[in-house]
Amino acid sequence: MKIGLIDIDGHHFPNLALMKLSSWHKAQGDTVEWAQEFGHYDVLYKSKVFTFSTERTFLVSADRVVRGGTGYRDYDTTLPDEIEHSCPDYSLYTDFRAAYGFLTRGCPNRCPWCVVPRKEGAIRPHAELSEFIADRKQAILLDNNVLASDFGLSQIEEIVRQGIRVDFNQGLDARIIAKNPDIARLLARVKWIQYIRMAYDHAANEEPVMHAIENLKAAGVKPYRMWFYVLVKDVPDAMRRVEQLRAAGAIPFAQPYRDFENNTRPTQFQRDFAHWVNKKELFNSIEFQAFEPRKGFKCSQYFQ
Ligand code: SF4
Repeated sequence: MKIGLIDIDGHHFPNLALMKLSSWHKAQGDTVEWAQEFGHYDVLYKSKVFTFSTERTFLVSADRVVRGGTGYRDYDTTLPDEIEHSCPDYSLYTDFRAAYGFLTRGCPNRCPWCVVPRKEGAIRPHAELSEFIADRKQAILLDNNVLASDFGLSQIEEIVRQGIRVDFNQGLDARIIAKNPDIARLLARVKWIQYIRMAYDHAANEEPVMHAIENLKAAGVKPYRMWFYVLVKDVPDAMRRVEQLRAAGAIPFAQPYRDFENNTRPTQFQRDFAHWVNKKELFNSIEFQAFEPRKGFKCSQYFQ
């Protein structure tokens, strides 16, 4: 069979589902390629992770078209087990050197803005590192709450043992690190690609976030390795959290709120704030009120 692939989100980040489909089809003796204009395929897979990615028109034909991914508001379809547990075909994305995968799926929490509980359900083991590491020395791990799983913790031990450099790019749960200094010590033994990512989404999490920072510092992690997603709904509230992180020496990353159901666009105020926080040359040199994102408009005007 001839298989065509389309990554609707572009090629900015490897699409794990497409890499697994490619690997599985190649193992069946099929030919697999990125869909070519005017090509004809037995099966054409289109994958879209983000709802805000724009659907693109491809002049291709296929006997069967399979669409999947959260971007199509498809929260229920999963790959068949034999495909899901194939080692990804990393040759599709030659610019990326890391391995990609999930050690666990799901999350025991139910944060109202988050699609994970609905899409993935409760936390459970998913795959051992060996299933997708291939011969790579770095891994981008997409787990949503790996620290909530004993299996996940045992895999982090394995990561330490193998000396693999990692990034849990969906963030680690600061509340668990706050409660458990042993986990902070385990994380201090990991080689990080750059940051230990966590989240400080609500003022209500101040105590556990600050405690997690203290536990990590006590375990020997430098604060500039601690990177926090800061959800931005109410800007003054997000500003307080950002300044607390700055005072602790940690790195905030502002993320304007998007309603994944309605795909609502963040306000200009939220976007200007996120721009200021995330551009470190701005964040480290001027106050938000003095930031002038557009000619003639200073952010102090938001507070008048
Ligand atoms: S802890 Fe993280 S993954 Fe779990 S529901 Fe909340 S936001 Fe989603």
